[in-house]
Amino acid sequence: MYDTIIIGAGMSGLAAGIRLAYFDQRVLVLERHFTIGGLNSFYRLRGRDYDVGLHALTNITPKGTKKGPLARLLRQLRISWDDLQISPQVGSDIVFPGTRLRFDNDLDLFRSEVSREFPKQSDNFDRLISEIVEYDDLDDSHQEISARQRLGEILTDPKLVEMLFCPLMFYGSAREHDMDWGQFSIMFRSIFMEGLGRPHAGVRLILKQLVRQYRGLGGELKLRAGVERLAVEDGKVVGVVLENGEELTARRVLSSAGWPETMRMCDDGAPVVSRQPGRLSFCETIASLDVEPKTLGHRSTITFYNDSEEFTWTKPDTPCDLRSGVICSPNNFQYGKPLDDGTIRITALANFDYWRGLDEHDYRLEKLRWYDRITESAVRFVPDYRSRVIDTDMFTPTTIVRFTGHDNGAVYGTPEKQIDGRTHLDNLFICGTDQGFVGIVGSIMSGIGMANMHCLRD
Ligand SMILES: Cc1cc2nc3c(=O)[nH]c(=O)nc-3n(C[C@H](O)[C@H](O)[C@H](O)COP(=O)(O)OP(=O)(O)OC[C@H]3O[C@@H](n4cnc5c(N)ncnc54)[C@H](O)[C@@H]3O)c2cc1C
Repeated sequence: MYDTIIIGAGMSGLAAGIRLAYFDQRVLVLERHFTIGGLNSFYRLRGRDYDVGLHALTNITPKGTKKGPLARLLRQLRISWDDLQISPQVGSDIVFPGTRLRFDNDLDLFRSEVSREFPKQSDNFDRLISEIVEYDDLDDSHQEISARQRLGEILTDPKLVEMLFCPLMFYGSAREHDMDWGQFSIMFRSIFMEGLGRPHAGVRLILKQLVRQYRGLGGELKLRAGVERLAVEDGKVVGVVLENGEELTARRVLSSAGWPETMRMCDDGAPVVSRQPGRLSFCETIASLDVEPKTLGHRSTITFYNDSEEFTWTKPDTPCDLRSGVICSPNNFQYGKPLDDGTIRITALANFDYWRGLDEHDYRLEKLRWYDRITESAVRFVPDYRSRVIDTDMFTPTTIVRFTGHDNGAVYGTPEKQIDGRTHLDNLFICGTDQGFVGIVGSIMSGIGMANMHCLRD
């Protein structure tokens, strides 16, 4: 019998596994896919390495910083800052018609940009920052406060409000149109007050470190081991049944598969609180170039763009929403040496039902068509790189389902989170996206937090 079985070898599941293995638990991570990483995995195509999701790590604080999520994460996982080899961003921007706000890993730049573009909002913006600094992550009553309402009370220029929402929603809002005040504050700190960075080797380096640490501590990992059912007796999970019929027993289960997805696995038929799956998913285009983007005049690490005064954050009626997006160049970090290829990735909101409904032939054609349309939309905001493209790839909401199993390809899971990770069963807990912390650093922190809180107490 295992002490803990963890469902999912994404960032949160692996991080939880390390904590438990470190304290000598007999722990098993079960992963449905043939590889690790979940939403943040990697693959090789036509001789090139690609990351599935990674644009940048958030919460990047300099080496030696003692406070903040990154420092906590490294301490808890016994990984050193140098192991991750994170290079800071060069600098990013948020672009709306007629206004560009630049930011980097020093909040002073962003503050001065806001003062320049929105001089009347300067004091209000400082007030916003003070409120965010004081925000207490452990107070889950903030979940119910609308960030739109709160921002409306502090800032009086609607365009600035929209320009702040654009990056924060793209990088972490499961909720349409609005964010919880708590989530807004966490994301604001992670992106604007701490900052963005990336390892030169991409996400594979982070995953390699996590798996090495986990296995080194005696943790077990099974790939191609999808959990079909959780066997429940007398209000407790007694074990898991895999898709291949194998049965395994455990004293407790920690699931990163998502709330609705985990509830459906429980075989107790007990009425469980129903929770709508999220509706927000992405398409992402990836272009390999024969030059570095900076040679074409593109020096920004990440550009968040929107082509009107109002930013819309809802499931689009069209296959992809061409009005807004995120343009990321993995080349534009402060590495000591260049990457092999130039790369530009563009993320846009997408409609899962449309992409799921296509047969294989149409899916392939539509990918080509929407690759072009997304790129055409993005080159309104960055130098046109299309003549330098040597290879491309693209993923859609159905790819996200394949890598994560999340209903609707919902990148950030359900809008309603379970901050304490508890379920209707005493020994079944949730970690990762639907617990409430998203992004790579967020989901790792979630795995650590839920393992500490629920699995190390006895
Ligand atoms: C396009 C895109 C770009 C992104 N960019 C960034 C970025 O730049 N920076 C950042 O910080 N974050 C980014 N993210 C978000 C980040 O990837 C996620 O928030 C994070 O990886 C979630 O980790 P997780 O462990 O919670 O869940 P997941 O990664 O979803 O892992 C869950 C795992 O559980 C497995 N699983 C599910 N059901 C079962 C089952 N029944 N049995 C066994 N296994 C199962 C899945 O296969 C999966 O491996 C991006 C996401 C996307 C889609």
